[in-house]
Amino acid sequence: MKDCIFCKIINKEIPNHTIYEDNHSLAFLDIFPHAKGHAVVIPKIHAETIFDLNEELFKELSVAIKKTMNRIEEVLHPDGYNVGWNHEKAGGQVVPHVHVHIMPRWEGDGGGSQHSVIKNPGSMTVDEVAKLFS
Ligand code: 5GP
Ligand code: ZN
Repeated sequence: MKDCIFCKIINKEIPNHTIYEDNHSLAFLDIFPHAKGHAVVIPKIHAETIFDLNEELFKELSVAIKKTMNRIEEVLHPDGYNVGWNHEKAGGQVVPHVHVHIMPRWEGDGGGSQHSVIKNPGSMTVDEVAKLFS
């Protein structure tokens, strides 16, 4: 998409530090890293969220995530990772082109877990929420 910053990166209109690439996906270092080696993995077609990717493209993206982690593992040897994406504005998404953050983690680095993203479960019990799915 014309005005999309990540499409511009794919089209090489904006420079980036690529750490993994295949036919469907590109992984590059985040410009404002939250950890050493913080990378984002994106599909090479413009899609705003994973709901706009078909299963095949999502599988390709998943493979690219794993291969990017393999590469980070080889080069940086972190002690762990947090991997995930911010989905839409409420989830913290700023760039409207699907991207999966890979944040390498080191013992004692002061970071939190996925559980530190939010602690606001609302007033419904787990049983009440479960009933909505039945
Ligand atoms: P979001 O909040 O949408 O999940 O994260 C977008 C990420 O993209 C941010 O971590 C931000 O630092 C990164 N980012 C935004 N623009 C650029 C850019 O031009 N180059 C690179 N390498 N990263 C970018
Ligand atoms: Zn795009």
